[in-house]
Amino acid sequence: MASFALHGIGVSNGIAIGRAQLVSHATLEVAHYTIQPNRIDAEIGRFQHALDDVKHDLESLHSAMTGGDAPAEFGAFLDVHWMILTDPTLAEAPKRIIAEQRCNAEWALTQQMNVLVEQFDQIEDPYLRERRADVVQVVERVLKRLLGKPGAIVPTNAEQHTILVAHDLSPADVIQFKQHRFAAFLTDLGGVTSHTAIVARSLNVPAVVATHNARQLIRENELLIVDGTHHVVIVNPDKAVLAEYRLKQGELEVERAKLRRLKTKVATTIDGARVELQANIELPEDLEQAVENGATGIGLFRSEFLYLNREGLPTEEEQFVAYRRVAEGMAGKPVVIRTFDLGADKTKEGLDGLARVAPNPALGLRAVRFCLAEPRMFLVQLRAILRASHYGKIRILVPMLASVSEIEQTRALIAQAKEQLREQGVPFDSGIEVGGMIEIPAAALGIHAFLSRLDFLSIGTNDLIQYTLAVDRADDAVAHLYDPLHPAVLKLLAFSIGAANKARVPIAVCGEMAGEARLTRLLLGLGLRNFSMHPAHLLEIKQCVLAADCREIKPAVERLRRLDDPAKIAAALDRING
Ligand code: PEP
Ligand code: MG
Repeated sequence: MASFALHGIGVSNGIAIGRAQLVSHATLEVAHYTIQPNRIDAEIGRFQHALDDVKHDLESLHSAMTGGDAPAEFGAFLDVHWMILTDPTLAEAPKRIIAEQRCNAEWALTQQMNVLVEQFDQIEDPYLRERRADVVQVVERVLKRLLGKPGAIVPTNAEQHTILVAHDLSPADVIQFKQHRFAAFLTDLGGVTSHTAIVARSLNVPAVVATHNARQLIRENELLIVDGTHHVVIVNPDKAVLAEYRLKQGELEVERAKLRRLKTKVATTIDGARVELQANIELPEDLEQAVENGATGIGLFRSEFLYLNREGLPTEEEQFVAYRRVAEGMAGKPVVIRTFDLGADKTKEGLDGLARVAPNPALGLRAVRFCLAEPRMFLVQLRAILRASHYGKIRILVPMLASVSEIEQTRALIAQAKEQLREQGVPFDSGIEVGGMIEIPAAALGIHAFLSRLDFLSIGTNDLIQYTLAVDRADDAVAHLYDPLHPAVLKLLAFSIGAANKARVPIAVCGEMAGEARLTRLLLGLGLRNFSMHPAHLLEIKQCVLAADCREIKPAVERLRRLDDPAKIAAALDRING
């Protein structure tokens, strides 16, 4: 078998060697087979069964979400899905196709979906035309039911190292891999700070995205080497290449063992500046890795991952249990819980209708905007966080803030949640700190309004870069334009960090920049003293901090900030990094 290499963007470092497991996308690649005449009734029964299951899903979603007091948009959205699901064009027509063409239920359903989608495309009214997306979503739900467990992807062979190869994966898909060990994974699409990539990093396995056609070129069970550090995948390596990579794998392990010795060392620069190195987590299960790598706190708990891959929304009790577990696990060290940031590339069945039909989800009803539009749901989360604050040192972080009114509305809801708990006699930390994310250029430029109204700030560079440069962080077609060293990005960072330090309001960076060793000195030179990153990067960044001397770095970074030529900025950074 011919050996060849594929290039992409390595989003998680390290080397993995294993066998390929290909993943298909439900609607793109449904199985297509004919059935025996005596199986037609059973096949129609199977289809009906899947429809009934989805009806049941929608019903539970309705009651979990609305509690009898439905927010208008959400109820309406569920009603639309219900109507589509029960309409004869979707509920009955596929049965006829199964009988007439003797084809399997998945194939009958997708054929009918294509007919409906075409009809929608011809509708002139833009609102009605957009319902096309709802039809596709409803069909996907039924397909998932037909295909067995909704959306679960597990290694087919637990004995061997398995490398997942997919055209695209959603953050919801990837988060499931925390329970199912894959040795690495590859996708055709994706950008370096897409949430899919971020979760991949949190699995601590190598990953390469934006390979364009890996899914097409690689065959099931082929031997692969994934080198996340060098952005390359080698398919069917020959013996010499394989031996070389096994050697490299061994060397990396030695490096890791060396870093592990730094676990309990305090992160202080040569000139004595104390630096907080905290961890970003997606689920309470990630806590262990944070503690193992010596995190001095949780700087970002992306709470919305609790909402993915489940039916309905988590109840107040479930959320409370999760937040309390993290607070107690950190034993008094700070835990920053970011409120619900769904929308953009993190969508949820049942909620994603709202985000997906938005013409531009990253600029749409995402994060705090979504929460403020669904105050009842937001209050549930705020009460859960407040209740957990009794068991550790919890802080609340609000994502995607752009204006003062969003802070005020959020604060009003927090006050309401506190009042409700007081009335019930439930204990909580009444002095809980409330912080905001600086991830929209407007927030960075208007930082003074934030400094006077919030207890702390955290810069989300992933979004700040996306919104400053107008580059979709999840789109591989523009990944080459996504540049943390763009002079405009550096200006916003310098301005925000400088203003917060001057006002003595704590400020952190919790975007991916914080975990990039190449950027540690730069950030220190800009005055940053609090970094929050994926736990796997903590020790490497600590090593950089221990070797840094801010007295030398600061003037060099100031010179770099005056440059506007990307090549000169890169050269200046190389000099700073020595
Ligand atoms: C960010 O935008 O940098 C951030 C930390 O938040 P997220 O990556 O979850 O959008
Ligand atoms: Mg963000």
